[in-house]
Amino acid sequence: MSQRLDGRVALVTGASSGIGEATALALAEAGARVAIAARRRDRLQALAAKLEALGAEPLVLVADLNSEAEAQRVVADTEAHYGRLDILVNNAGVMYLEPIVEADLGRWRRMLELNVLSLIASTQAALPGMRSRRDGHIVNISSTAGRVANPNAAGYAATKFGVVAFSEALRREAYQHNIRVTVIEPGAVATELREHIGHAEVQAATNAWAEGMRQLQGSDVADAIVFCVSRPAHVNINEVLMRPTDQE
Ligand code: NDP
Repeated sequence: MSQRLDGRVALVTGASSGIGEATALALAEAGARVAIAARRRDRLQALAAKLEALGAEPLVLVADLNSEAEAQRVVADTEAHYGRLDILVNNAGVMYLEPIVEADLGRWRRMLELNVLSLIASTQAALPGMRSRRDGHIVNISSTAGRVANPNAAGYAATKFGVVAFSEALRREAYQHNIRVTVIEPGAVATELREHIGHAEVQAATNAWAEGMRQLQGSDVADAIVFCVSRPAHVNINEVLMRPTDQE
């Protein structure tokens, strides 16, 4: 049976659009108080108004999470503001797609920093508080690209396979402290992610592929996340692999 999240405090990174925005709203609807982090202040403030109306007492955290220090700071600010952090949703991410031979390694480095190192930094910052309370849930957003590595997606897949591996090791370090870990692996979701692919041909092909199917919506992924974090305390859903019905 689903538990309400009343009294729980969540932090969602990358909450200014897409999956993160939908997740913040869904957590609020389930009763959680919600801190939201990303770079675009205007988008966060618009979301905060909706969260406020849901009684979620939002905390807006404008941060460039490419910086590990900022990834740690948003956790510290959430704990300072609410006195605790129960649910950390590590969602912020970018997807740069291009053939390896043409890859802009500077961009790939930034993708690795955000998709992997920043997620590790915010997790590391959240663990002491969760361990001391023997309570917490960390949800990491990977992708089907964390399970299947496609041509033109080598760098992105490396980050998302990395998130899956990190999450499994994290789960095995954290479970004895009563901390749950869930990794979510969605297929194509209709969000702004593909706007930043960077390589025109690959972008056009990826858009055509995604638009040729009934894509998941951010709210579909948010529903799965809320399902996982609202299980009774003895249930830890480790992994959710979800695709559009139309996706191979
Ligand atoms: P969006 O582009 O809509 O959302 C990405 C979010 O990450 C935005 O809120 C953006 O906010 C934030 N972000 C990007 N760069 C930074 C940064 N440097 N610092 C802080 N925040 C940042 O895409 P999605 O909702 O699709 O992506 C969310 C996650 O889901 C990603 O990890 C993505 O890899 C994953 N995913 C997406 C799939 C899809 O098909 N869409 C499929 C599988 C996984 P801002 O720009 O304001 O900083």
